[in-house]
Amino acid sequence: MVLENLQTILKDQPSYRLKQAQEAIFKILVSDWSQATNLPKNLQEKLNQEMPLALRARTKESRDGRSIKASLKLKDGLEIETVLMSYDSRHTVCVSSQVGCPVGCEFCLTGQMGFKRNLTAEEILDQILFFARILKEKGERVSNVVFMGMGEPFLNMDEVLKAINIINDPLGLNIGARSISVSTVGIIEGIKKLADFSLQINLAVSLQAPNDGLRSKLVPLNKKYPIKDIFKALEEYIAKTNRKAMIEYVMIVGVNDRIELAEQLAVLIKSLPKPLCMVNLICCNPTGKFKPSSKKQMEDFQKVLLENKVEAVIRESLGQDIYGACGQLASN
Ligand code: SAH
Ligand code: SF4
Repeated sequence: MVLENLQTILKDQPSYRLKQAQEAIFKILVSDWSQATNLPKNLQEKLNQEMPLALRARTKESRDGRSIKASLKLKDGLEIETVLMSYDSRHTVCVSSQVGCPVGCEFCLTGQMGFKRNLTAEEILDQILFFARILKEKGERVSNVVFMGMGEPFLNMDEVLKAINIINDPLGLNIGARSISVSTVGIIEGIKKLADFSLQINLAVSLQAPNDGLRSKLVPLNKKYPIKDIFKALEEYIAKTNRKAMIEYVMIVGVNDRIELAEQLAVLIKSLPKPLCMVNLICCNPTGKFKPSSKKQMEDFQKVLLENKVEAVIRESLGQDIYGACGQLASN
C-alpha cells in the first residue's frame, strides 16, 4: 500500500524510486524533499513542486508537558486538531478523521461545531507525520495511534482504513496493529466491516448510557443505531476476531453517573456470550453545560462494575488546559 499520488508522480521512474521516496517520507521523516538525499536533485525538485511535505501548524503544550495539541491547516484553509500524549517512552497520537462531526453529541465540542468534510488518508497520515518529525529530533517515535480526535471514523471508513494500512505497513509508519485503536459512536456497518478487516486493530465504542432513553438524549445517532443493535454487532465482532472491545463511557455529573446505571451497564455487558468487553470510564471534560462527575462518584461507579465482574478502568485525562482533551477539539 503506497500513497497514490506518489505512485502517479513517479510512474516514469525506475520502480526502486518509489521505495526510496516512501523511505524519505516515513523513515527519514523529511519535511522538504531536498532533505531526501537518497533521491537525485531533479526528482527532489519535482516532488517539492508536486507533492510538498511541509505542514502548517500552530502548537500548544500543556503545563505538565505531557501533551501537545497541533492545529493543522489543510490545503483548502480548513483546520483540524491533533494531539500527542506522552508517557515515558510511549507516544500516542490522537488523530482526527473528519473536519467537525455530523453526529452532534451534546457534550462534545467537535459535535457542536457541525460537519465540514471528510479527511483524506493523506491528511490523516500528516497528523502522525507532524509529531513523528518532532519526536525524531529527540530520538523517539510514535508508538500508538488512536482515532479519537475530531470526527466519526466509521463515517469516513474508506479513507480511515487506507490510512491504517499505511500506519501499519513496514514501509509506512510501521506501527503494530495492536497499537492502533479506532473509536466509534456505534456505526453498525463500520463495526461489521472492521470485523472482516485484515488487520487486528483495537475497537472502542462510545456508549455513554446503558439505556436507549438516556443515550438518545446524549447521542442523537442512537435513534438510528440503538444499543441492542450495537451489542449484536459487537457480539459478532468478538466472535469473529476473538478480540476485546472497549466500551467508553464519559461520566457527566447528574446525567449518567447514577449507581443504578452502573448496574444496568454491567447487565448489558454480561449479556455478551463471551464478555470480552472492558469499560473505560472517562471524566467528562467541561464543555458548556456538561460537568464532570466527582472522583468519588467515578470510583463508586467503577466499583459496581468490578463487583459484577466487569473489567473497568478510569481513564486519566490529559491536556485539559490546552483544550486538547477528549471532546474538546474544535477548530475556531
Ligand atoms: N466519534 C468517535 C471518536 C471521536 S470522540 C466517538 O465518539 O467515539 C473520542 C472520544 O471522546 C469518545 O470516546 C467520546 O466519548 C469522548 N468525548 C467526547 N466529548 C467528551 C467530553 N466532553 N469529555 C470527555 N470525553 C469526551
Ligand atoms: Fe462526533 Fe464522537 Fe464527538 Fe459524538 S463524541 S460528536 S461522534 S466526535
